Amino acid sequence: MASSLVDILIIGAKPTGLMLGCQLSLYPNISFRIIDKNSTCTTQSRAIAVHSRSLELLGQLNIAEKAISAASISRSTFA
Ligand SMILES: Cc1cc2nc3c(=O)[nH]c(=O)nc-3n(C[C@H](O)[C@H](O)[C@H](O)COP(=O)(O)OP(=O)(O)OC[C@H]3O[C@@H](n4cnc5c(N)ncnc54)[C@H](O)[C@@H]3O)c2cc1C
Repeated sequence: MASSLVDILIIGAKPTGLMLGCQLSLYPNISFRIIDKNSTCTTQSRAIAVHSRSLELLGQLNIAEKAISAASISRSTFA
């Protein structure tokens, strides 16, 4: 059985917590666990748009291009 002791406990398995987990996975010497008060996955998505900073973080994980290729690109012009 895996030890219940971890270096970092992340509360919340939504964008912030999951991205922190992805980032921490780059450091194998740091153990972490993600927990959430909800026991099931959400059936709703709030991801209508991905902001540029989010893309930068996805880029650090080398998955930005994959995310962009799976997305619908929307262009708008501001007056
Ligand atoms: C209608 C709507 C549309 C949106 N559209 C976009 C969009 O298009 N693009 C975009 O970038 N952003 C969008 N957002 C914003 C985006 O959803 C939030 O910025 C994002 O969800 C924040 O993620 P988070 O992980 O910080 O928090 P949350 O998504 O709020 O997740 C927090 C998690 O922590 C858990 N939790 C909280 N307290 C505890 C506790 N005490 N113990 C255990 N678990 C706990 C909760 O169950 C939850 O799963 C939208 C938001 C809304 C409401």
